[in-house]
Amino acid sequence: MRLVILGGPGAGKGTQARKLCRQLAISEISTSDILRRAIASQSELGRQAQVYVEKGELVPDPLLIEFMRNRLLQDDAKGKGWLLEGYPRTAFQAEELDFLLDDLEQRLDWAIYLEVPESVMMKRCLERSRSAIEEHSHTLQGDPKGNILVKDSRPDDQPEIVQRRLNLFYERTIPILEYYGYGKRLLTINGSQSPEQVQQEILHKLQI
Ligand code: AMP
Repeated sequence: MRLVILGGPGAGKGTQARKLCRQLAISEISTSDILRRAIASQSELGRQAQVYVEKGELVPDPLLIEFMRNRLLQDDAKGKGWLLEGYPRTAFQAEELDFLLDDLEQRLDWAIYLEVPESVMMKRCLERSRSAIEEHSHTLQGDPKGNILVKDSRPDDQPEIVQRRLNLFYERTIPILEYYGYGKRLLTINGSQSPEQVQQEILHKLQI
């Protein structure tokens, strides 16, 4: 099965992607994980993407489209299928993905959209940021400077940057829903429920 999972920051894409990939035994391909690892290792992709990710901006389309083309040509992606998390994120990426799949004689089965109100997405990102800091402050109790506290939490979960990521989600990603809806490939899921309920709804709608 070939799936994409769409949603704003804090919509629960990562959690649901992991559960679904385990359940369906398909490969999870997360652009945000790939970018974070590339930045940490300072690979060519990481160096080029870093400035965008840290500011909450989208990494330019040509960079990611080229990367995803190579990724989807790898052996694990040709086998049982995959789930793309955080990709596509722009109409251009969505169209390019379809062109690429045409070349590979494959097709996307479903785009799963986790619908969550903006206020909930903001709250979840801020909580994620706070708990990352608390976790480290617990480990590092007694460190008077606490430098690592800031370094190890997600820098793009800070309030102004989350707001920017949310704005970009509404401007650039929401239009993709129409594209997939028109092709009758869209499943809209209530992402405000508990993770277990969200997963049940997804499996039910995928008829699994
Ligand atoms: P996420 O954790 O999915 O919100 O992604 C974190 C950041 O990675 C985003 O704010 C972007 O900077 C970058 N990113 C992830 N996926 C994409 C994509 N498909 N296109 C452009 N930028 C992306």
